[in-house]
Amino acid sequence: MEDLIKKAAEDIIKAQRVSALTGAGMSAESGIPTFRDPGGFWERYNPEEYAHINTFFSHPEKPWQMVKDFDIKVKAKPNPGHLALAELESLGFLREIITQNVDNLHQQAGNSQVIEFHGNLRRAVCLTCGKYYELAKISLEILPPRCECNGILKPDAVFFGEPIPQEAYRRSYEAARSCKLMLVIGTSAVVYPAASIPQIAKQAGAVVVEVNPQPTPLTGVISDYIIIGKAGVVLPEIVKAVKNLLC
Ligand code: NAD
Repeated sequence: MEDLIKKAAEDIIKAQRVSALTGAGMSAESGIPTFRDPGGFWERYNPEEYAHINTFFSHPEKPWQMVKDFDIKVKAKPNPGHLALAELESLGFLREIITQNVDNLHQQAGNSQVIEFHGNLRRAVCLTCGKYYELAKISLEILPPRCECNGILKPDAVFFGEPIPQEAYRRSYEAARSCKLMLVIGTSAVVYPAASIPQIAKQAGAVVVEVNPQPTPLTGVISDYIIIGKAGVVLPEIVKAVKNLLC
């Protein structure tokens, strides 16, 4: 692993223009369960039912119950992996993070260029008038919560069956085409279209480096190499190696 960490640091310095694609594994060490790893939360709330837009339209209280439960259980904070990516941005290498996560933790860690591919669960939007609310400031006593115009509020995350927000889509593909190295961290790379982003980076000539405790469908096909390990362990080591090489 040490050799690969040094190689990743060298590749980052050589590339200069680095993008990252992050998935649920990025926040696992912050206590937020991923979809596909064993863990009680998603066994109780099957995401394909509770996070499907059709469920929201037929029973809006169901996805809201899940959000409420999620929020009470998780008072998550950025982990050392998030903080390492913030440092990689301040060192001038990481241009943007394309995240599939909806937990706001990259922003909390200090990254300024975060593309929210699947929206953000810390916000809600009124389906009638379009007004945005911070989740922390609305009451979840009666579900679904309503806007002051009496419209139903929807969590501002992309549900299954919904399109990706246009601007996030455009910026992500632009980043994939123009970066010289893409870090792919904590994603099982099976949810499309997000999983196509590393493929586009690769086709455009970027080096693709995965960080994940286990291989993914990208491994050995799209990614140049994988560093097997947890984001909260591997990423601080990579940033440390970058700084060592710069001295
Ligand atoms: P996924 O659950 O399909 O896959 C998680 C991946 O993370 C796996 O490959 C796993 O091996 C890896 N992983 C587990 N622990 C890790 C760690 N400590 N460090 C690095 N990698 C680790 O998640 P996905 O690919 O992101 O796709 C599922 C969808 O779930 C995404 O659209 C995402 O929006 C949503 N989701 C988001 C959150 C969140 O916001 N934190 C949580 C759960 C699901």
